[in-house]
Amino acid sequence: MQVINTPISPYIQNAPIAFCDDTKECIFIDPGDELEKLIEVQIRLKLIPQYIFITHGHIDHAGAAKALSEQLDLQIIGPHKADDFLLQALEIQGQMYNMKAQNFTPDKWLEQGDVLSFGKQKLDIRHCPGHAPGHVIGINHDAKKVIAGDVLFNGSIGRTDLPQGNHQDLIQSINKHLLTLDDAFIVHCGHGPDTTIGHERKTNPFLNNAQ
Ligand SMILES: [Zn+2]
Ligand SMILES: [Zn+2]
Repeated sequence: MQVINTPISPYIQNAPIAFCDDTKECIFIDPGDELEKLIEVQIRLKLIPQYIFITHGHIDHAGAAKALSEQLDLQIIGPHKADDFLLQALEIQGQMYNMKAQNFTPDKWLEQGDVLSFGKQKLDIRHCPGHAPGHVIGINHDAKKVIAGDVLFNGSIGRTDLPQGNHQDLIQSINKHLLTLDDAFIVHCGHGPDTTIGHERKTNPFLNNAQ
């Protein structure tokens, strides 16, 4: 599984496109804005879109999901239904932040234990509340890669001062679903550079076992 970041939106969100090396089947992850940049990558790499995967309902991740689903005739999968209140407020958020955003209800909500597949790749879904109550991440155990959204960043963690954010929940989600992975796992973050579980375990000042 390869993951291509294309920073978009005023929030410089990575909007990863993940694809199977063998089949070129791809998924759009968190297409929040600037769809033309994302579609340019998909066309340039000759990728075959399968569906849209949303990690959580914030505007920089979900604002343009409906537009992309209509443009390319793709289903929207995720986040967890606890983020419905965010998805139904995207248009209002867009007016406040001067972004073109549309409300939507996904074709399928995700839950802890669900598995997404595309090509020969599988993403194990984990529910990781804290940054947003319906935040989910996807773990590819064979490739040792994690689609982490805004749960864990290189040197930081997701903010918890937004509606229904909760710091204790976030730390618990990270401990339970990320720090239980081995050090070699690559973490693809919603913002900023990729990192590894090992690097964050050793150096991230927000995690319990940091020095
Ligand atoms: Zn967010
Ligand atoms: Zn974000």
